[in-house]
This record gives sequence, structure tokens and C-alpha cells, in this order.
Amino acid sequence: VRTTQQWQGLDRSHHMHPFTDPRDLNKKGTRVITRAEGVYIWDSEGNKILDGMAGLWCVAVGYGRQELIDAANEQLKTLPYYNSFFQTSTPSQIELSHVLSELTPPGLNRFFFTNSGSEANDTVIRLARYYWKLRGQPTKRTFIGRKFGYHGSTVATSSLSGMAPMHDQDHELLPHFAHIVHPHWYTQGGDLSREEFGLQAARELEKKILELGADNVAAFIGEPCQGAGGGIDPPSTYWPEIQRICKKYDVLLVADEVICGFGRTGEWFGSHTYGIEPDFMPMAKGLSSGYLPIGAVAIHDRIFEVLSEGGKMIHHGFTYSGHPAACAVALANIALIKKEGLVERVKSDIAPYFRATLQQMADAHPIVGELRGVGLIGAVQLVSDKANRTVLPPTHEAPIKAREFAIQNNLIMRPAGLQSLVVAPPLVITRTQVDELVDKMKRSLDQTAQLFGLA
Ligand code: PMP
Repeated sequence: VRTTQQWQGLDRSHHMHPFTDPRDLNKKGTRVITRAEGVYIWDSEGNKILDGMAGLWCVAVGYGRQELIDAANEQLKTLPYYNSFFQTSTPSQIELSHVLSELTPPGLNRFFFTNSGSEANDTVIRLARYYWKLRGQPTKRTFIGRKFGYHGSTVATSSLSGMAPMHDQDHELLPHFAHIVHPHWYTQGGDLSREEFGLQAARELEKKILELGADNVAAFIGEPCQGAGGGIDPPSTYWPEIQRICKKYDVLLVADEVICGFGRTGEWFGSHTYGIEPDFMPMAKGLSSGYLPIGAVAIHDRIFEVLSEGGKMIHHGFTYSGHPAACAVALANIALIKKEGLVERVKSDIAPYFRATLQQMADAHPIVGELRGVGLIGAVQLVSDKANRTVLPPTHEAPIKAREFAIQNNLIMRPAGLQSLVVAPPLVITRTQVDELVDKMKRSLDQTAQLFGLA
């Protein structure tokens, strides 16, 4: 086994997230993760680290689950690969569509499989525009997303995302993409109550549609609870108003479930949690708990009817769409979530405990302004002045330093939008492990406060 130092010399291609600082990563050296079990990962130097991010919001059932490993093995032996291009399909893909249609909100019964969340959202862009073309409204092309929304890293989905650093970095926003405000009461709400602010933030969509002209708007996209943007869970008034506006102006609604799906919010999908009835529902991550790459788009029957009118071919597909082994792993993953009652466990047991424990820490901590999120998404807002809701300026390095302290304390937590820090552990985390997570998070925040003289 190479040491981290040795790996560092070899590895010159770090994947950079908008909220990490490349110079910092290079300086500190990348941990090489060599194995994992339950909610823990180990690095090449033998450190046991609590994975507070479930990989990258994916490992719902925890690491090392034999059922998923067996499913992949069996499928690779029987049929490692086949595609859907020659009027062909494969059993695990067909079965996965059936199983998913029982979990998704009513009407979302058609599935297109991808390899990732980005491809799922890219697929939505193509299908939604094609839908409007078939309906005789080819000018309806614009997608409206939100600031601090994250929908992927392809050229199109980075324009769909509302992450300013991505837009600044390599290209301007593509044409036919627009963004409205993120529903973040803490920084945007002023003197309004949360509910009043929820309505106001949603009505920004109406303003944007009127500005662009409803005839030019294809769809609105939002994560039920914004993940990478900083665990932004909208006020209860937000989604009903968004839906009313979409219906009024004939704008399709896309709920990006890549993070929220598969139990993380305490329901199978974030759309259930917030009462959203989407036209398209992209998903990935928790679909296979990350054991093999797979994403999917759930498509509403009424949309699919138009797309497939007269048995029309849709010219869209990837070599690995519906990969048999990835579908088999997804099936085993869903079966395990059901067998262990993990969605119910999140809702009525572990998420309430996780939130209460985090809340206690947040209330007492001088540099934490609020706890956000839903279910097993927990985000803490870093502030310089708790009483006046003053968040740290965007260039302040506290979140990055906090992440560094966390990894020294053997915890993975992640800096996110709005100068916040997120934890989103596997759904199987125990109460003792939640205590360990919050303890290590607190210690890392204490060290950060001390380093910057913020306390
Ligand atoms: N949508 C959301 C909400 C995400 O969080 C992500 C990934 N973090 C994506 C889409 C893109 O998924 P992928 O990285 O699998 O392409």
C-alpha cells in the first residue's frame, strides 16, 4: 500500500468542487481511501474516519453490504452487459423500472436510465424541449433554476446549476438558462416570517416567467431541499406556490432527487416530503448506494404519451444506459432499504435524534447561526455575528479550514454554499455514531473559531 505522500506525487488530477480550494488540497495532500465498512472509511495510513457525507450523499445502506456485492457478482456472471439499442432490454433494467414506479409519486411510471445525476438532468433538458416541440411550442426552451442549485457538471447542467464559481470558471451561462433566488430565509428573509418569505421567494419564479415570456419557458427545476448549495430546506409555503405558478404558465416542473431520493429526507423521495408532483424526477446516488454508477429519470405518463406518440423513436441514449449490473445493484439496494425499514427509521427515529443533537450543538456554538436541512441532511451556517444573522463573507476560509480540522479529527464533513458545512451520513448510522459525528463536528468548529478569533 502506498502512503498518502507517495500517492500525492502520482496524483495531479484532483477533482475540484466549486467550494473547495485546489491550492489547499494540494498543499495538504489527498487522503487515499482504501476500504470501508458500515459508516467508516479507512485511509492508506490506517486512519479510521467517520464518513459524515455517505461518500457523496450516496451510500444509503452503508459500506460492505453483502447483498449488493452478491447482486453485482451474479449479474456479471450471467450477463455483464447489454444495451437497449436494438429493440432489446435486460431483466434487471425491466424489473428496476417496475420497482421504481411503485416508489415514485403517482403518474411517474416511465424511466430512462443514465450513468449519473448529470446525465439524468441533461436528459431532462433534451426531453422537455422535445416535448414542447412536439406540442407545437418550439420556443419553450428556457430552463429556470435557482441560485445555489446544483444539477451536474456537464456543459448544459452546469448552466442549469446556480453555482456562480462554475459559471465564472470555464464558460458563460449557455443561452436559455436563467436562475431565481434560493429560498434561504436566513440571508434573504429580512423581517419577513419564514412562511411570508417562502411565498415571496416562489413568486420570483412568476416574475422571471413574465420577464422571459411564458412562451419561452420550458421548465423550472429545483432540488426539494438544496444539497450542495447548503442544505437549504424551503419554508412550507414555497413548493405549493411554485406548483401553482408552473401550472398557471404551463411550465414543466422538475424535482431533482439526486440527493433527496431514497430515504434521505425521511420519505422515499423529497417530493413526498414537500408534496411536489413533478413532471420529471431525475435521481442517482442513493439509487445504488453508490456501489455502481447509475442514474435515472422518472417521466410522468402524460409527458411520455406526447414523447412517444405514434411509436416515435426518441434519439437519446448512452452505451451504459440501464447497465445490467448497476440495475441489479440498485434492485438489491432498494430491497435492503425496504427489508431494514430504513426510510421509516430515518423519519421516526434516527433523523429526529440527529437533528436534535445537531440543534443542541448549533444553539450553543458561537459561530453557528442556524441548523438547516431535512431528515439526514444537516447543514450549519457559519456566522461572525449570531445576533444579527451576519454570515461570513464568501471568501472567508473558515469552512475549508473546518473541513481540514474535521479530517484531522477523523470525520468527513463538507463545506457547502453560503459558507455552511454539511453532514449527510448513511441512513444506517446509529445513535452512538451520531453522537460521535456531532462531537467531532463541534471540536472542528471550536478549532476553526479559535484559529480565526471568531468565538
Ligand atoms: N443533482 C444534484 C442535486 C446533485 O447533488 C448532483 C451531484 N452532487 C447531481 C445532480 C449530479 O450528479 P452526478 O455527480 O452523479 O453527475
